[in-house]
Amino acid sequence: MALTGIQIYKLLPQTNCKECGFPTCLAFAMKLAAKQVELSDCPYVSDESKSELAESAAPPIRLVTLKANGSEAKAGNEVVLFRHEKTFYHMPGIFLRVFDSESAEEIKAKVSEADAYQVNYVGMDLAIDGFAVASVSGDAAAFSNAVSAVREASQRPLVLMSRDPEFMKAGLSVLDGESPLLYGADSDNWEAMADLAKENKAALGVIEDSLEALADLTQKIADQGVEDLVIDPGGRTFSPALTFGTQIRRLSLKKNFRPLGYPIISFPGDAGEAGLESMLAAQAITKYAGFIVIDNFTPASVYPLLVLRQNIYTDPQKPIQVQPGLYEINGPKPEDPLLVTTNFSITYFSVANEVEGAGLPAWLLVTDAEGMSVLTAWAAGKFDAERIAKAVKEFNVADKTTSKRVVLPGHVAVLSGELEEELPGWEIRVGPREAVDLPAFIKQAL
Ligand code: SF4
Repeated sequence: MALTGIQIYKLLPQTNCKECGFPTCLAFAMKLAAKQVELSDCPYVSDESKSELAESAAPPIRLVTLKANGSEAKAGNEVVLFRHEKTFYHMPGIFLRVFDSESAEEIKAKVSEADAYQVNYVGMDLAIDGFAVASVSGDAAAFSNAVSAVREASQRPLVLMSRDPEFMKAGLSVLDGESPLLYGADSDNWEAMADLAKENKAALGVIEDSLEALADLTQKIADQGVEDLVIDPGGRTFSPALTFGTQIRRLSLKKNFRPLGYPIISFPGDAGEAGLESMLAAQAITKYAGFIVIDNFTPASVYPLLVLRQNIYTDPQKPIQVQPGLYEINGPKPEDPLLVTTNFSITYFSVANEVEGAGLPAWLLVTDAEGMSVLTAWAAGKFDAERIAKAVKEFNVADKTTSKRVVLPGHVAVLSGELEEELPGWEIRVGPREAVDLPAFIKQAL
C-alpha cells in the first residue's frame, strides 16, 4: 500500500537541508507521495527507512529500457490516467516486425528502409524506435540469421520473439552487450526465460490471456529476480485491447497493484490488414501501450502514428516552441518583406512552410510569446506592439533588412497603431489572417 506524504515525512531525516531541491523534507515527502521525484534525490535517508520507503518510492509502472548499440527505447514511469492531468512521459516505442521465414536480403531491405525513415514535424525529427524479429520457421539457426540480418541493417533496439528458450539463446548469441526485450515467457517456459533474461540483463515479455494469470506469472518471475518486465494481456481487437489497457493502467495507478505495474506490449500487426493495423496502433498509442509492434511499414502509414504519438506525449501545459529570432526563408535580400509572428511552433511552421513552399524570399521575425499562438498570445498580453518592437531591436532587424516595413498577422490588425508609435519611421502593414493566404499577399501587396 502506498504511503501518504505525512507517513513518508516521518521516515525522512527532517533536517530541511534542501539538497533534494525542495525547501523542506515535508515538501519532498509530498512530491515523493505523488511519485514526482525519486527517493535517491535525498542522500540522507537511512537504510532502514529506505527499505520501508521502497514500496512507496517505486514508480507505479516500472520504467523499462531496451538498449542497443548507442540507442535505447524506454517505456513506463507513467503517473496519470489522462494526459490533461499532468503529462505522459515515455512515448511508446514503435517496432517493425520481421520474420525468420524471410530471406536475409528481404529482411535487410525492409529494415534499411524503415531505419532510414525520418520525418521533421514542427522542428522535431520523428522516427521509429526499433525492430522485432519473430521466430516462425521452427529453425533456431534461421532465427539467429534473421537477428544478424536486422543488426546488419540497423543499430536500433530489438524485440526477440520466440517461446522456445533454445531459439531465444540462438538469437541472443549474435547480440553483444545489448538489452533487448525477450518475448516471451508463459506459464510453461517462464523459468528458463527468466534465467535467460537475468543472464543477458534483458527485459522479459510476459504473456497470459487474463489479468489474473498475468499478475500471478509476473509475481513469480519478479520473485526470481527479473524486474524489467513487459506484459501482454492478449486482446488483439479494439474492445479487449482497450479494456485490458485501461484496467491495467487503473490498477497500477489507482490501486498501486505492483504485479501489473509494467509497460504493455501491443501487436496491431496481428490484425492482418494494414488499415486495421494503423487504427489499432493509434488506439495503443493513446491507451496505453509501452511498446507497439507493427508489420507494415510505409511512410504514409507510419507518419500519422509518429505525429499522434508526439502530440499525445507532449506536455499539454507546455506548448511546443521555437526559438525567438529573425529567421531567413529562401535566402532573403535586405529589401525582401519582413513578417512577424509568435514562437508557437505550429504557428511558426504554418507561416514558414507557406512562404517557403511558394518559393518567396522573406524575413520572419519570431517573438517570444511563451509558445502561444497569435490570438491566444494577444489575448494574454504576450504579443503586443511593445514586444514586437523589442524583438525588432533585440534581433537587429534594422541592420539586416532595408524595407523598414513590418507585416502583422491579420488577426492582430488592432496592434498597427501602437506599433507605429513603438517603431517610428517604419511602415506597418496588416497581412492576411491565415498563413495560407500569405504568398498571394506578398506577391500582390508588397
Ligand atoms: S535532502 Fe533529504 S534531508 Fe535534505 S531537505 Fe531534502 S528530504 Fe530533507
